[in-house]
Amino acid sequence: MKNKKEIEIVGDNHFSSSIRTPLRADAFDKSDEEKIENIQYHFKKIMEEMGLDLTDDSLSGTPYRVAKMYVKELFYGLNPVNKPKLSTFENKYGYNKMLVEQNITIDSACEHHFLPIIGYANVAYIPKDKVIGLSKINRLVDYYARRPQVQERLVLQILNDLQTILGTKDVIVSVTAKHLCVSSRGIKDQSSFTTTLEYGGCFTEVEKRNDFLKIIAQEKI
Ligand SMILES: [Zn+2]
Repeated sequence: MKNKKEIEIVGDNHFSSSIRTPLRADAFDKSDEEKIENIQYHFKKIMEEMGLDLTDDSLSGTPYRVAKMYVKELFYGLNPVNKPKLSTFENKYGYNKMLVEQNITIDSACEHHFLPIIGYANVAYIPKDKVIGLSKINRLVDYYARRPQVQERLVLQILNDLQTILGTKDVIVSVTAKHLCVSSRGIKDQSSFTTTLEYGGCFTEVEKRNDFLKIIAQEKI
């Protein structure tokens, strides 16, 4: 356990220690239902500690609502059983130019403050032997977004998975997002947002990267 000053520094620098989300060995020994029950208990304690009266009709259900939201919605992407099935198809039509899936919604949360990260992702790849259903890319992005995250790790996790699934390094991923921990606390900068970009294969060439950047800069539909 770090001291309080170090804890603040890690949060404000948005430091991430690894490409893998740090998980305990026993992370999924308990069922979702057990987790919801335990989180409900602990969240109730937090609310009580803040002086809230949990016998009030408006507040009494909040611990359950928060617990269910954490396990089933905001952080469902922690559990590998929820990973979308990403079946690929043979690239029968021999399409071998860039395919761009853009403006994919990012609804995530920063792991340092548990506050929302909201924005969008753009993903492109150049097919070799395999192609993937378009909506599968959106689902994969959502899966990795729905866990306590760091934006740098999010793009890397999406990139690595797609490279493996598609059997090519020619993948590029960008995420542009607003962090509520920057806008509503700390520096309280309402206007800034963050972009992260990761790529491999042919996207290490500046012209290929520029082709992608030009497309995602276009007016949205
Ligand atoms: Zn944060």
